[in-house]
Amino acid sequence: MARVLLENIYKTYAPGTDTPPVLRQIDLSIADGEFMVLVGPSGCGKSTLLRSIAGLEQLTAGTISIGDRVVNDLPPKDRDIAMVFQSYALYPHLRVYDNIAFGLRRRGLAGLPAIGQNFLVETTRSLPKALRYETDRERQIKQQVYKVAEMLQIEGLLQRLPKQLSGGQKQRVALGRAIARDAQVFLMDEPLSNLDAKLRAETRSQIVRLQRQLGKTTIYVTHDQTEAMTMGDRIAVMYGGQIQQVASPLEIYHHPVNTFVAQFIGSPPMNFVPVRADLPALTNGDLRVTLSDSIAQAAQKNGSRNLLLGIRPEHLELADPNPAHFHGRVELIEALGTDTFITVQLAGLQDAPSSIQARISPEQTVKNGQEVSLSLAADKIHLFDPQTTLAI
Ligand code: ADP
Repeated sequence: MARVLLENIYKTYAPGTDTPPVLRQIDLSIADGEFMVLVGPSGCGKSTLLRSIAGLEQLTAGTISIGDRVVNDLPPKDRDIAMVFQSYALYPHLRVYDNIAFGLRRRGLAGLPAIGQNFLVETTRSLPKALRYETDRERQIKQQVYKVAEMLQIEGLLQRLPKQLSGGQKQRVALGRAIARDAQVFLMDEPLSNLDAKLRAETRSQIVRLQRQLGKTTIYVTHDQTEAMTMGDRIAVMYGGQIQQVASPLEIYHHPVNTFVAQFIGSPPMNFVPVRADLPALTNGDLRVTLSDSIAQAAQKNGSRNLLLGIRPEHLELADPNPAHFHGRVELIEALGTDTFITVQLAGLQDAPSSIQARISPEQTVKNGQEVSLSLAADKIHLFDPQTTLAI
């Protein structure tokens, strides 16, 4: 069982100063075989957390367990983890085959010390086959390298040096090296960010397929909400060194716990409009939106006069003028083929953002500058307390 348990973790890079910790009060339990994505904006502490799990950073406080072992004091090599970095980190002087085999060869051997065996294997490699030194172990390594190469479809690249590979190929080799080691836990730090969009999408699904196939506990760091949504069994959204919410992608999309999570997950982001609670309606200037019973009850319970109405672009629709609808002028049209996003400059509201975004069907024609009304899907409304930023 390789579950990963993080308990009450703190990390500061500047002990004894006022600088706030980079990680604060992190509690997270990752199940055996689970694909957990750590997502958040740059600087929120994702890499520091991943590097702490790997043993590359020392914690200020807290406990990290992998399987049944507390690993706080273990060096990276004894934690039974394999890490994939954004920068690939391949050995430039080693062929792809040896890059993948590297971690396998490093392990101790029965009989001759690993280093002696490896030396014999290396120095006799170019001799005729009958004279080559090939141990049982080297045969096993070869099998493992070919198995992994087949999985990643890089059999044809095994004899090349890293400099003879494209970015996507290098990243597949780096993945191969991690997989070959057969570690209990995979740690991945933004492994796709150096790839172009098409390759990123391809490699993304390849990583997910491999992870399902191998069933290895995986912790994956990204700042990209699309990667988080499409890859994770669960997502931990981080901000300011703290975990804001841990849940399945759809749970996070449908029930964000605060305004940060609400605007970070979903693209384009959720619109926010300040409103007064005149229950069962919400009002602002000319706008009067009547709430569904369950949402009105929740707002009643909260008791706050001022609320923040959150509505995703996909839950707005072009409609006839009506006090329950937003009104304004189209200031930007982005037609993507499958969807069209319009930015509408709002009219008739007070202290509201100047514009909101809506997703409309590509069949609907709107023109720049056109006056439009947008209806809100009543059951898709989110409400937040502007003081605490928490969802109601
Ligand atoms: P993320 O991966 O989410 O972008 P990081 O974990 O890299 O965030 O960084 C979190 C914070 O810690 C940032 O403010 C960063 O500047 C700081 N930080 C990261 N590494 C170091 C370091 N070695 N020394 C001092 N501060 C660091």
